[in-house]
Amino acid sequence: EKNVPGASARDLTPSYDWFQTDGLITIVIYTKQKDMNAELVIVDCQDKRLRGEFILADHSYLIELDLDHAVREDLDVNIAEKVGKVEIILKKKDNVQWKVLGRPLESHNTFIKRTDRGLFYRKCKLVSKTEVTHDTKLFSLMLPKSTHLQVPTGQHVYLKQIIAGTEVVKPYTPILPSLTLDFKQPSCHDGAHIYLMIKIYSCGLFTQALDHLQIGDYISVSNPEGNFKKSQVQTSEDLFLLAAGTGFTPMVKLLNFALTEVSCLRTVKLIFFNKKEDDILWRNHLEELALKDKRFEVQFILSEPRKDWGGKQGKISLSLLSECVKRSRKDSKVLICICGPTLFTEQGVEYLRDLGYSQEEMHAFTA
Ligand code: FAD
Ligand code: NAD
Repeated sequence: EKNVPGASARDLTPSYDWFQTDGLITIVIYTKQKDMNAELVIVDCQDKRLRGEFILADHSYLIELDLDHAVREDLDVNIAEKVGKVEIILKKKDNVQWKVLGRPLESHNTFIKRTDRGLFYRKCKLVSKTEVTHDTKLFSLMLPKSTHLQVPTGQHVYLKQIIAGTEVVKPYTPILPSLTLDFKQPSCHDGAHIYLMIKIYSCGLFTQALDHLQIGDYISVSNPEGNFKKSQVQTSEDLFLLAAGTGFTPMVKLLNFALTEVSCLRTVKLIFFNKKEDDILWRNHLEELALKDKRFEVQFILSEPRKDWGGKQGKISLSLLSECVKRSRKDSKVLICICGPTLFTEQGVEYLRDLGYSQEEMHAFTA
């Protein structure tokens, strides 16, 4: 709505059209929104069932059809970002004329609040599982070729498994395969990957089941969710990331985004809380990054260090934060992101408030 001042909501309802050639079906969606991008378009096509969801501010537009005929697995999505036009290009399996595009399913052509749209899951293949630390693994999942989905910075997905006859769902935050700052999404055709860094708890219901998955097994992955906005980072000069344990995961894409795309940033500091030294995730990557990019600094703080630990120790506290979180200049525009166990995050936010930081200067990652 903010793109067209004064326009009524009705004017902004997206619409679609379709046409065909001998080999292709092209569906054109007029989102009526400027600044469309690949992260706002989620397309799945399984058997003859096509689902396309378009995220338009806090609304979601859906097309959902049982297609007239079968299509090949490799679909294409083209986005004209400035005019908000999206094309889904399907390849016909058989060279026949389609009379109709398909039979509308339940939620076809609806434009509703995003929060009212149920989660959609597709099955992804586990392609690798590698050790990160003694209890944490990097899971690489491959999306089907017929899925177009990119998880935005700061958002999580839900994984779903049937455990002892019951459906169990837990959130996880996709990361990048490394912190080398030159990561590019592979093209759609390669079958895009989702990387998850997951701590396996010895009594954990979901993570134990995950750990027992074999390479080649499938697991259901949802559409992304989350209320983090990249624009919060885009204008900041000092970025502080307070992470505890696997609360590090949202910081991975955030770091990459900040250091590669935010030109006004002067300093980025990760303050990483862990119990022991061998719990620190990606310590080498982080230390290498700090050497490579002078704007970036990392500090490790242990709550249960061994005697020989030379670094900082303790848990999150007012005095610790007043020492570690400081504007680089008196009037620096600052953003502080925080993620970890619920109590850690709650206490952190409270201390930061006590230190005079405003709500707009903080973002807490929660479910
Ligand atoms: P559970 O069976 O729930 O138990 C986990 C462990 O904690 C067990 O050892 C259990 O004994 C203990 N425990 C359970 N409840 C309590 C309690 N109330 N107090 C104290 N101890 C308790 N995790 C990741 O590893 N990587 C991620 O990227 C990630 N992203 C997340 C994103 C979001 C938005 C949220 C909310 C959580 C995320 N998590 C992530 C955590 C994840 O969702 C699960 O909570 C975690 O994997 C544990 O699941 P589980 O079923 O194995 O463990
Ligand atoms: P952990 O138990 O290994 O603890 C790591 C550090 O967190 C500790 O060293 C301590 O400094 C701090 N900490 C732990 N409990 C605390 C408490 N009660 N009060 C203050 N500080 C505390 O951590 P873990 O097992 O890796 O757990 C990570 C947590 O992060 C999980 O609860 C997970 O759900 C959460 N998480 C949330 C998101 C999100 O909301 N977006 C994403 C990833 C992980």
